[in-house]
This record gives sequence, C-alpha cells and structure tokens, in this order.
Amino acid sequence: MKGLVYKSTGSWYSVKAENGTFYDCRIKGKFRLGGIKSTNPVAVGDHVDFEVEKKGDETVGIISHIDERDNYIIRKSVNLSKQTHIIAANIDVAFLVITLNNPPTFTTFIDRFLVTAEAYHIKAVLLFNKVDTYNEDELLEIKLLAALYRKVGYECIGISAITGKNIDKVKALMQDRVTMFSGHSGVGKSTLVNAIEPGLQLKTSKISDQHLQGQHTTTFAEMFDLSFGGQIIDTPGIKGFGLVEMDKEELGNYFPEFFELRKNCKFNNCLHLEEPQCAIKEALENEEIAWSRYKSYLQILEGEEEHFRKDIYEK
Ligand code: GDP
Ligand code: ZN
Repeated sequence: MKGLVYKSTGSWYSVKAENGTFYDCRIKGKFRLGGIKSTNPVAVGDHVDFEVEKKGDETVGIISHIDERDNYIIRKSVNLSKQTHIIAANIDVAFLVITLNNPPTFTTFIDRFLVTAEAYHIKAVLLFNKVDTYNEDELLEIKLLAALYRKVGYECIGISAITGKNIDKVKALMQDRVTMFSGHSGVGKSTLVNAIEPGLQLKTSKISDQHLQGQHTTTFAEMFDLSFGGQIIDTPGIKGFGLVEMDKEELGNYFPEFFELRKNCKFNNCLHLEEPQCAIKEALENEEIAWSRYKSYLQILEGEEEHFRKDIYEK
C-alpha cells in the first residue's frame, strides 16, 4: 500500500493509506537515505510503501520503501552526539508570520529564514500579521518591507488573524498543499491557524523557548488534514528553520537578487566584502540591492566564520 506519514515517534509511524485509513507502522531493517545519518529514517511528510501484517488482533504496517523527498528540514541535536533529526519532508510552502511590534520581527530574522528556505528548496511566503493594530507610519513600513521582499521574488500578504483580512488568500495558497508556519512566539500563529481551520490546535507555539533551552529535546512534528484540502505540519518548539551548514561561497546563492549579478564580479569566488570590481557592492551603491539584505548577508557570513573558528579551537 501507498501512504503518507502523519506522525512519527522515532520508532512508530502513523501512516494514512490512500483509502483514508490510518495504520501504525514500523520500519524493517535499516534505511540509508542519501547519506543522511538521522535519528529517524522516516519523517512526517514522507510518502511510503508499506505492507500490512496481522498479528493476532493487531494490524501492523511495515514500511518497505520511502519515496525520494522533494525537500526536508532538519535539526541538529544540541548534545554531543550531534545527530541529525529530520523534522519534516516534502513541504510545499513555509509561511513566516511577521509582526512589526509585539513582538518585533527584525529583517535579519526574516532573511535568515529566507536563506534557509532557499537552501532547503522550500517556497517561502511572508505574512505580515496584525495589520489591524498598525498606525499610518507602521502601515507604510509594512508596505515598504513587502515591496522590498516582492522585488526579491517573495510573495507577501498583509493579514489580520483577528479581523480575517486576507485569510482567504492564505487559504488559497494552502489548498491541496503541505504547509507549515514559523515565526516568533506571539506573532499570531495559533490565532491564524484557528482562523484558517477552526478547532485546530497547534502545539507550535505552546512550548516556551526557555523550556527548550539547553536541553536535549527531540520534537516530533505532526501533520493534520485541512478541511478544504491539503495538510498542515505542526512543528512544536520550532520558531524557524535550523541553519543549514554551507560553504561561505555558497551563501550568495541563497539571496535570489545576488544570483544573476554575482556572475559579473571580477572574482568568481567573490564574497562581496572588500574585493575589487564586485557587482554586488556596485548594485548596493546603486540601490538595486537593499542595505538590510546585504547587512543580513554579512551577519550570516560572520556567523559562519565564528562557527568555523570554533571548530578549529575544538580540534
Ligand atoms: P503565537 O505565539 O504565534 O501562536 O501567537 P498567538 O496566536 O498566541 O497570538 C498572540 C497574541 O496576539 C494573542 O493575544 C492574539 O490574540 C494576538 N493576535 C494574533 N493575531 C492578531 C491580529 O491579527 N490582530 C490583533 N489585534 N491581535 C492578534
Ligand atoms: Zn562580489
């Protein structure tokens, strides 16, 4: 039978067959998937083949095959084992819920999210929530931010989870797709999901950040059906995506507005710092690239550098 994984505990998987029935499944033997060593070979969102075995009164499914993934998001465990945990697979759209204040969402946070989505090959959409609370100046700020990100190529929607403004547009993007929501605690993720699908309680924001800090926590994602078609993935305790490990030269690939321009840099391994004849720096001077985006680029690059240095010290 063919099915879709809705829940995973690491040893048991809840799989929905094409006929709509849920089966408790296990895996047999070892799976090796594209060289990823993970604590869970099968993840929420995986399309699998399984055979049903009857053991007395019990029906158990045995997963025999996992379809190749379009994408997947991972989290590295914080303890020494440094094992990778696959949070979810085959995500069609990742929404980032953003508010200007209460709480503030900074562009560096937005850009980190977008870079990671690019690296994971997941379509990202920005939702500017709580538009019902903003004054004229704040509305203008949202407009400018949305214009900035639309120019880069990202869909942006101003919404209100309370008044229902543009919720239909969000629903249209979710229909018949697998989606997930990220964003700081308090931006309105739970309220929004409830406006979209009344009665659906996500755990996404119900685990406090403090609770997670410094602990080895394995969070298990879960998928839910939407009444209008499609699925939503609940990722408890995950504000955004984990950072992907990448080479410094790679980072520029994940800023779409850098992509074509960087071919005109004098050096093909240009990091767009102090190198001569850098097309990105020129575009920055000509205001074709936003300073906030370049600032985020530098911050992420520096972050990588710190990571790199730390690795050397540890050796
Ligand atoms: P979460 O932590 O991201 O899940 O955020 P919540 O859904 O718990 O929302 C945090 C607070 O913001 C709650 O008091 C909500 O009522 C409020 N809130 C969420 N969306 C909106 C909105 O669009 N407008 C207004 N005025 N308040 C909102
Ligand atoms: Zn350059």
